Amino acid sequence: MSLTYNLDKNERKKFLQSKYDYYSKFNTWSVIISTLAQVTYFVSDCQLFDRFAWETLLPRTFMLLPLLLFLYISKRVSDYRIMVPLSYLMIHGIMWCTIWAIYYLPIKQHASEGFIIMQLMFFAIGYSASFLTSTIAHSLLILNIVVSHQFNHYENFDLMLSLGIPCMVAICAVNFIMGKVYLDHYNTKNQLETLIIMDPLTKVFNRNKIDDIVTNDGKRLAYPADIDVAVLVIDIDLFKNINDSYGHEEGDKVIVFTADTIKNSVRSIDIIIRWGGEEFVVILPGCSLENAKNQAEDIRKEVENSPDNKYNVTVSIGVSMYKHDNFLHAVTDADMALYAAKESGRNRVIIHEDLGEEYGKENIRA
Ligand code: GH3
Ligand code: MG
Ligand code: MG
Repeated sequence: MSLTYNLDKNERKKFLQSKYDYYSKFNTWSVIISTLAQVTYFVSDCQLFDRFAWETLLPRTFMLLPLLLFLYISKRVSDYRIMVPLSYLMIHGIMWCTIWAIYYLPIKQHASEGFIIMQLMFFAIGYSASFLTSTIAHSLLILNIVVSHQFNHYENFDLMLSLGIPCMVAICAVNFIMGKVYLDHYNTKNQLETLIIMDPLTKVFNRNKIDDIVTNDGKRLAYPADIDVAVLVIDIDLFKNINDSYGHEEGDKVIVFTADTIKNSVRSIDIIIRWGGEEFVVILPGCSLENAKNQAEDIRKEVENSPDNKYNVTVSIGVSMYKHDNFLHAVTDADMALYAAKESGRNRVIIHEDLGEEYGKENIRA
């Protein structure tokens, strides 16, 4: 049984990465503290020996070196598929160093307490792992005890298992519940993120979506340079008249109708953004100028001829090609073409590249 059974493979990967990212600091500190705690057990070794326990000095300090390596890697790698197994490897390493130290101890009966404490380390790493991984990694703790019994010959081996196994099962169950708690958190976070970038009226994106699609270094769209990207700016013609004649609510319905018509006409990879009141920007990746022009014409005709077009509205569309520089330049170019479409009678498509030189910056609409 998996708590992410209803997620597909890709979503599950995203969920687990998000879970690791959320708990990664906790995970790293758990590994650090577990390693250091293991070093301090040297004190109890000295108490058991009643002298300086030089035999267990190496096993008790051995994990400090892998810890440095772990910290080095964790600074550079954030993939949960590497970091979670590596964290469990560290914890198993600590356990095996403990087993190594126990080998020399004159009294081995306290190993059972030590192994119960070890369960806490496994519990802590379980926060950033999937339920399946944490259950498998945690079960190996019992295997470590069974294997090491072959040479450590624990005096209270039976007790170790009867105390250890229920503890392990309980911790796996709590890890399952913690995973479920994080799934709720993850779903809420995703819903909020979606709300932030969605226009509530039309259910297309709002301008916040731009932050998602531009690169970190500025305002470039995150598409490869050899991909044609076309931009449309679509504006409802004489929309103010609709509001004035039929009221704001009917005006809203016309905006929704226009958004739906655009949605039905473009591909799923195209991005529709409600840019302003009755104005939309559509980004068409992998689309040549010719195709963009046809696409814009399709939208224009669909709006004009749709049986759902209650008030016979029309749209004007400006088209431009993105030049792989600032994305807003392409919007400005398409807006310039839109202005030309409005000037020349509305209900038409104009391509920025077809505008003459006389269309300077002074013609850019606000
Ligand atoms: P043009 O053909 O030149 O575009 O004429 P227009 O009347 O459409 O031009 P304009 O851009 O001046 O008018 C847009 C109007 O849209 C003004 C504003 O009151 C209205 N508007 C903006 N946002 C909304 C909205 O969310 N709902 C409604 N009903 N109206 C809105
Ligand atoms: Mg308008
Ligand atoms: Mg407008």
